[in-house]
Amino acid sequence: MWSTNDRHGVWRAALSASAAVCLALTGLATPASAAPDRTRAEAAPTAHTGGLPSGNTTYRTLADYERDMRALTSEYPRLVKPLTLPYPTSGGRLVQGIEISRDVRANDGKPVFVTVGMHHGNEGPSGELVMEYAIDLTRRAARGDRYVSALLDRARLVVVPVVNVDGMVRNRRQTDTNVDMNRNYGFGWLPISTGGAAPWSEPETRNIEWLLSTRQATTFVTQHTCIQVVLYPPLQLEVGPTQDVARFEDLATRMASRYGPGYIPRDSAHDYETTGEAIDWAYFATRGLAFTAETCPDSGVERTFQTQVMDTYPEHRLAMFEALVKTADPRQHATIEGRAPKGAVLRINKSFEMYTQPYLQPDGTTRPSAFRTALTSDLDVNRSDGRFSWAVNPSYRPVPPYQAEGVRPNQTGFYREPWILTCERPDGTVLQRTSVNVDLGQKVTVDLRQCSRNFHRKSH
Ligand SMILES: [Zn+2]
Repeated sequence: MWSTNDRHGVWRAALSASAAVCLALTGLATPASAAPDRTRAEAAPTAHTGGLPSGNTTYRTLADYERDMRALTSEYPRLVKPLTLPYPTSGGRLVQGIEISRDVRANDGKPVFVTVGMHHGNEGPSGELVMEYAIDLTRRAARGDRYVSALLDRARLVVVPVVNVDGMVRNRRQTDTNVDMNRNYGFGWLPISTGGAAPWSEPETRNIEWLLSTRQATTFVTQHTCIQVVLYPPLQLEVGPTQDVARFEDLATRMASRYGPGYIPRDSAHDYETTGEAIDWAYFATRGLAFTAETCPDSGVERTFQTQVMDTYPEHRLAMFEALVKTADPRQHATIEGRAPKGAVLRINKSFEMYTQPYLQPDGTTRPSAFRTALTSDLDVNRSDGRFSWAVNPSYRPVPPYQAEGVRPNQTGFYREPWILTCERPDGTVLQRTSVNVDLGQKVTVDLRQCSRNFHRKSH
């Protein structure tokens, strides 16, 4: 249990120290803010023609999405691999996505940018924009576009264009159980009418929980319509700003400026207050940067495929490049590095309780419900010299405003809560276990000599 500050030694991030460390670590040669401009100048056919990377002029069906993802996977197998989320929807459908990176099949520990669409099944443009960006990036990388290739050398994209597939098929906001997916995430959940029977009651929501619990996402963007905003946690005014408000403001401002002059970067609570949304759980569980991007034509403009997808895409791609550049920046994640036997599997884990807001329980008391979040990721050591560099989320977790005792606003600290790292044989035999504390922008070297000795003992 990590419920009180006293018992577990809240740790305040030494951000200035981290910043000094990471200046030396910056991997990107160009300033992040300048990079997307260069892309626009280098090659931007969409900006000239007004056409989409796919050439589409109408909305996809679900079958169209699945066909387009299969086509990318088979046409560019070194750049794209398929992904199926673990939980079939209540309508019995599978939720599909793709991963995109240079040498995508290597489980190599690059930092991850997760972009998803259609939490709300009637927000068609949100899925289209996500899918078009996947096509755009893949084709540019395949053509040898140097800017995109350099980004995909350094980062991995996980793309799920339609997370609420039942809602999309029926063209309605909610899932087949009449739940608003984006009110069903457990952190800070309340039993509002569309929030579901319990926190995480919906398989669609648990799919995203699984995705972000297994991917070490530096950045997560969930697309919506129809407002002109880029939103970040928190969802409720009373909890106050998050520990990473400056980083949130910075990237939200960059993305909003790419979308256009009407777009406002702000915390979600100041847009309107909600509960149980993806971005709040995502940030407080993983410390990845999590945004809700809402696109919409200017007021007075008719909402059509042309205005909501074709005219918006050129700006959307620039906003997404901002997020991808940040993802690749070592200052925005933590790095575990070292040497391990080629062929070994490294795994990091942590597990902790999180809480809803207090609400009237079936037993008549008003209190929060607890749920457990378990983060786990692995990396294959595949270089012949055994060296690895693993981009992970910082092990220091922000103290959340929703706790066992209720709402505790204006938190400023972090839990010192190390990653438990294991070095394993491919069959899962654990050869060494160690704990790793690593903060934002920091690089920590782990000593895995014990694993190396034991690993090679096997071959005798
Ligand atoms: Zn929405």
